[in-house]
Parts: sequence; structure tokens; C-alpha cells
Amino acid sequence: YELVAGQFAGVIGNIRAFETERLRAESLAELDRAKTTFFSDVSHELRTPLTLLLGPIGDVLEDTTAPLAPGVQEQLELAMRNGQRLQRLVNDLLDFASIEAGRANPVRVETDVATFTAELAGIFRAATERAGLRLTVDCPPLDRPAYVDPRMWEKVVVNLLANAVKYTFVGGIDVALHAADDGFVLTVTDTGVGIVADELPHLFERFHRVPGATARTREGTGIGLALVQELAALHGGHVSVTSEPGAGSRFTVTLPYGAPDVADDEPRAVVR
Ligand code: ADP
Repeated sequence: YELVAGQFAGVIGNIRAFETERLRAESLAELDRAKTTFFSDVSHELRTPLTLLLGPIGDVLEDTTAPLAPGVQEQLELAMRNGQRLQRLVNDLLDFASIEAGRANPVRVETDVATFTAELAGIFRAATERAGLRLTVDCPPLDRPAYVDPRMWEKVVVNLLANAVKYTFVGGIDVALHAADDGFVLTVTDTGVGIVADELPHLFERFHRVPGATARTREGTGIGLALVQELAALHGGHVSVTSEPGAGSRFTVTLPYGAPDVADDEPRAVVR
């Protein structure tokens, strides 16, 4: 009898643990949704005033006929950079909202992914040089046409590279693209701070940041990687990471070659 009772208690315990875990996962997902909705509502409100704020600052900075008083130029550039950062954050949050609402269908067009990726990596040349980091780009042409949503691919590449630059202090970053049987593969490898194994399963969760000194010194929101993952998934692809603390990280994105979208009459919202 005791044996049966013991087994029974064990089973009940397992069910409880399973149920608790399920409820925890559900309420966390619910919380993420609530957070996304809240942030996207706020983002909508922020978008217009931000544009109206940055427009005039940009005009003043670009106006070469009216030289600025000493120090003012730097102050305005600082305001501009931070405003643009806020603008990117607002846009990322709005992207989440449209993905959530199922309004973000990729519009796949034939894209020279190799050239495009190399161009995007080139944007980071100045930042890596400033930081004394190496940047190598190895993107030979793919031997098959690839169909992706270029704006979404841009976000994937830019977010991964921005992170690599942000979390690397010595060494450098290697960007590579190669063809595989089931699609094409982008790898962004850095010699940065790395990520402890316990954190890897949570890395692509929305708003998740690795706790610790680096996260405190580097500004961030924890949405970049979640967006990368969701954009890859919208293309039927996936993203993975391997990392060694203190040595560096490698992010790998695999997307199928895809097919052109058939023209339809459905109006669709596009992630900007
Ligand atoms: P953010 O950088 O805004 O915090 P992300 O979603 O882009 O958000 O990244 C989530 C977390 O993953 C970061 O806070 C950081 O701790 C970690 N991380 C991302 N990329 C790297 C990287 N290349 N090297 C080390 N840690 C990284």
C-alpha cells in the first residue's frame, strides 16, 4: 500500500510541478504581451513628437550657411544621436506590435543577399575602427536566388552586428554568409564578453538582458535579439547562438531561399 501511495504522491507531485511550470510560462507570456501592448501604445504617441523634434535639429546641423557657436554643434549632435536611438527603440517596439497582431507578413523579393549583407556590415566599419576592433566581411555570391523581405533582413543583420560591436572590447567581428542545402546561413562571430551557458536559453526572449556588469555598462532594452528571432521565424528560418564567456559569441541565422510572394490584393502592413 505504501509503495502505491508513494508512487501516487510522486505522480501528483509531477503533475503539480508540470502545472506550475505551465502556469508560470503562460503568465510570463501574458506579461510579455501586456508589456508589448503598453510599449507600442506609448510608442505610437512618441513617434510624431520625436520626428518633429529631430527634424529641426537635423536642419540646423545640415545648414552650412549658418555656422554654429562653439560647443553648440557638439551639443546638437549629441541630442540628435540620442533622439535617433529613441526613434529606433520606438520603431522596434512598433515592429513587435505588428508581428504580434499578425500584420507583419514578409514581402519576399529576389534579393542579392550577399551584396546587401556586405553593404550592411560596411555601415559598421567606422564604429569598429573607432573602437579599435577588426571587422572582416566574407559574403561570396550565393549560387541560387534568395527571396527575402529586405527591410526585415536589414534588421536581422544590423541588430546582430550592433550587439557584436556593443559587447566586444578586444579583437573583432567576423561576418560571413554561405550557402547550405536548406538555405543560406549568416554567421556573426565576435571575440567579445561572451554569454554564460545558463543565459543562452533566455537570450531570445523579449526584454531579456543578461544580468551583470556588462549589461549595466551597455545600454539596451533586451528586444534586439527577440526581434531577430521573430523576423527569422517569419521567413521560416531560425537563429542560434554558441558562446564562451570571456572568449566570444557566434550567432547563426539560417533562412530558406524562399520563393517570390504571389501578388495578391490583400493590403498588408510592412515592418518599417
Ligand atoms: P540589448 O542588447 O538591447 O540588451 P538584445 O536583445 O539585443 O538586447 O540582447 C539581449 C542580451 O544578450 C544583451 O543584454 C546581452 O547581455 C546579450 N548579448 C547579445 N548579443 C551579445 C553578444 N554579441 N555578446 C555578448 N552578449 C550579447
